[in-house]
Amino acid sequence: MFIIGNGRLVTRDLAAPFYENGAVAIEGNVIRKVGETKALKEEFPQAEFVDAKGGVIMPAFINTHEHIYSAMARGLSIKGYDPKGFLEILDGQWWTIDRHLTNEATRQSARVTFLDSIKNGVTTIFDHHASFGEIHDSLFAIEDAAKEFGLRTCLCYEISDRDGMDKARESVMENAAWIRHALTDDSDMIAGMMGMHAQFTISDATMELAAANKPEEVGYHIHVAEGIEDLHHCLKHYGKRIVDRLMDCNILGSKTLLAHCIYVNPHEMELIKETDTMVVHNPESNMGNACGCPPTMEIFHRGILTGLGTDGYTQDMTESYKVANVLHKHHLCDPNAAWSEVPQMLFEGNAKIAGRYFKKPLGVLKEGAAADVIVTDYIPRTPMTKDNVNSHILFGMTGRSVVTTVCNGKILMKDRELIGIDEEKVLYEVRKEAEKLAHSING
Ligand SMILES: [Zn+2]
Repeated sequence: MFIIGNGRLVTRDLAAPFYENGAVAIEGNVIRKVGETKALKEEFPQAEFVDAKGGVIMPAFINTHEHIYSAMARGLSIKGYDPKGFLEILDGQWWTIDRHLTNEATRQSARVTFLDSIKNGVTTIFDHHASFGEIHDSLFAIEDAAKEFGLRTCLCYEISDRDGMDKARESVMENAAWIRHALTDDSDMIAGMMGMHAQFTISDATMELAAANKPEEVGYHIHVAEGIEDLHHCLKHYGKRIVDRLMDCNILGSKTLLAHCIYVNPHEMELIKETDTMVVHNPESNMGNACGCPPTMEIFHRGILTGLGTDGYTQDMTESYKVANVLHKHHLCDPNAAWSEVPQMLFEGNAKIAGRYFKKPLGVLKEGAAADVIVTDYIPRTPMTKDNVNSHILFGMTGRSVVTTVCNGKILMKDRELIGIDEEKVLYEVRKEAEKLAHSING
């Protein structure tokens, strides 16, 4: 048992949201108690004490849309790549990379993504994977890395017909094998979804194959209307809008997660709401790909469960928070937009989304919740209260503020030092693999 205390404690538990000098007592992989530091120390005198040194103690971050496969793109220059639009970004960069990924390259991409996630205080990751260079067992290669680093993951493989029907079938089967594996695992550390790229690269036949191989306990994780091209394709080939096609293919539902939703209309939002389907917003990626600004504020105001992801851009959830905050103000010409919606997406939405796949409560510090806790070294310059916590996070913290990360009751990083992981060695091995990948792509 150990106690993390002597810090400003943000619990995200409405019953007791903030302690000026608070502590969390952790026993095994759950939280035993939350309270004043002095009281907890007296109640559990034998517990080891981890000193937060006046920093902020809060629930670890959850990332509900990530792409491990993109990890080795940093600094990579692909010969002839000069995109004029979103489809050229996909084909020229992301599909080019994933066509060259072996399972070893996938594993190394996962290792460096997880390393960076720990350093940014993220302990639960919903990944959306593609590696058409080697599909079979690729999700299990990611699991190897997740176990090595001690993080919680919900994985899927993005089904697509883009490289032919044999690979589409293989990607369905990889999802099915992974989901079966995750459903029989009782660690509460892994979960699976039926991954899908986007409707414009998936035929009805492949949709049917996926449905036939999907256990009913899980849903889909799919990109929706990320580019206007996706909508045009659907109207042209199916005579209907994207969410209507997904409805007709029985994709929507409370376990299904739709990424982006930029080009969706009010009718489609109604379908998403009626079916209790989840949405994840990725502001930085949408801006970077010049895809447009999604109507996320409207989606949120309609009561649709909405989370915040990074789409592989970063492992720093505060970066997504900062970008979403200014994106919607800018786009709507409304200085009042997004103040409360974005932190609700990050802290409540992501926790609820995770709650649909994991048993123990995540994103909250209270008795019985998962022991996923972070400490940041942030010392406020103005009074910090239960009512202005999010403003302190938005304007005062970055992922680099995280000094200690605990996942499932295990300390993975303490005072910025990774525990049991040789960071230099990991980065050396990842760089070697990235060099191989660049050579494989550019010859
Ligand atoms: Zn994505």
